[in-house]
Amino acid sequence: MRLLAILSFISILFFSCGNTSQKQVVDSILYNATLISMDENIHDASVLVIKDKKIFAIGGTELLDSYTCPPEKKIDLNKAFVYPGLIDAHCHFYGYAKTSLSVNLVGSKSWEQVLQLVDSFSKNNENSWVTGRGWDQNDWKNKAYPDNSELNTRFPNQPVLLKRIDGHAAICNQKALDLAGIHADTKVSGGEIVLLNGQPSGVLVDNAVDLVQNLIPEPSAESLISALQSAEAECFQYGLTTLVDAGLDLNECLFLDSLQRKNQLSIFLYLMLNPTADAMNYANSTGIYESELCKISSFKLYADGALGSRGACLKKGYCDRKDHQGMMLFSAQFYDSFCNLANQTPYQVNTHCIGDSANRYFLEVYGKYLKTKNDRRWRIEHAQIIDTKDIHLFGKYSIIPSVQPTHASSDAPWVKDRLCSDRMGGAYAYKKLLQENGYLPLGTDFPVEYINPLYTFYSAVFRQNALQPEQEVFTPEECLSREEALKGMTIWAAKSCFLENRKGSLSVGKDADFVVMDKNLLTVDKADILKTKIRATYSRGKKVY
Ligand SMILES: [Zn+2]
Repeated sequence: MRLLAILSFISILFFSCGNTSQKQVVDSILYNATLISMDENIHDASVLVIKDKKIFAIGGTELLDSYTCPPEKKIDLNKAFVYPGLIDAHCHFYGYAKTSLSVNLVGSKSWEQVLQLVDSFSKNNENSWVTGRGWDQNDWKNKAYPDNSELNTRFPNQPVLLKRIDGHAAICNQKALDLAGIHADTKVSGGEIVLLNGQPSGVLVDNAVDLVQNLIPEPSAESLISALQSAEAECFQYGLTTLVDAGLDLNECLFLDSLQRKNQLSIFLYLMLNPTADAMNYANSTGIYESELCKISSFKLYADGALGSRGACLKKGYCDRKDHQGMMLFSAQFYDSFCNLANQTPYQVNTHCIGDSANRYFLEVYGKYLKTKNDRRWRIEHAQIIDTKDIHLFGKYSIIPSVQPTHASSDAPWVKDRLCSDRMGGAYAYKKLLQENGYLPLGTDFPVEYINPLYTFYSAVFRQNALQPEQEVFTPEECLSREEALKGMTIWAAKSCFLENRKGSLSVGKDADFVVMDKNLLTVDKADILKTKIRATYSRGKKVY
């Protein structure tokens, strides 16, 4: 009996010793870091444990006693700072990739420079069309729209279409106008054909751009895939692991999903569907689509144009063009019936609204269907100029404003010319908007702005252009705190897409998406923010940069 007792005691001792020294094997362990988790329950964490593409554990050095992994997967981060993978809550990834196949006019300093860039691009390009994007006459000494006379001389036989930075206006040559059948008396609802001495000047605004755009042949699948892959690599390089593509046709969404399933793309995409009959059928038949790397559960509508091209729909005239209020792009009947149909699906409705009239209109139409506070998370994209009397409607109907801080700092130098001072109280009013629902997703709208999320952070916190630190602070009462800005790029952006259970914070069970930086954005000197280096980006546990 005694021997048996001793033996069993020894075996218990042996067994329990063996058990505690037996560490659980995981895929990778990152340690010696400051984890900025954006999870309110996690503080002072320095170790991140990854298994099966997810965050398996997060905490202090005690985790190193419980978990082990292959030695090459045990990574000393040398006191770096780890953030959740960054999310761009509103961008145009597919469009960015596509435009990389055409001439890049962003940052051009004059119309003459645009012409030079187009000349040299077209020399190395065999395409039947010359296409480009990114000019902005507000950045030029001569701020008037150009006309197409020079384009006609240089390109008499080849059609040319050059889009403005916001995509809401474009200039094309006579050849393109002819192909599209555009004359002085052509009328386009929701669009404008700008005339000069009674003839089209080549400048087209909003829906008029589509008359030409629709004629341009699609690039080959091969060149598109390689452009998408380069765009993805660029995003990973900036620490982005989730992108919200704000408006694609159903076939484009299915194409992106097919590339992900073939491992040709690996960034997570939240795709908004353009409001077509196809898209509505898809929503009704498929419901919410969610795969490892893709989620489709929203529609994207466009209410109006942009402020820069005076297409934004305002309640009263522009200050610098008093007889003009901009316009809505489609009929009230279309918007209303689409929202009605969408309300019968589980999808979000996300609508581009820039002007105070467009915002008011959609706050009311959404309100008609949402009725009261709710968890549908219908969004207004940009929510740029809002009558202060209307702001409370965001909270009343739980409507989520989705904003782009770099728009505020980019537009700051001229926005008052468009609006006069009496409308500035509700212009890019991020702090007021944040208070409505307690969260505010942030994005860039790239390629309208640069991809770099550090610019978003800088503009949100300081209301200045990161590249022009001497710029006057734009409506300082609307500055977000550093923590709010970071939440807007992580957990709040995730929430605005119903992704908060998978993305947006370093929390156990979420996808192992994170970015390693050499600086703490919550405390680093303002002057050093742009010097922050992205050391590595991980998407679902895999190092992608
Ligand atoms: Zn956009």
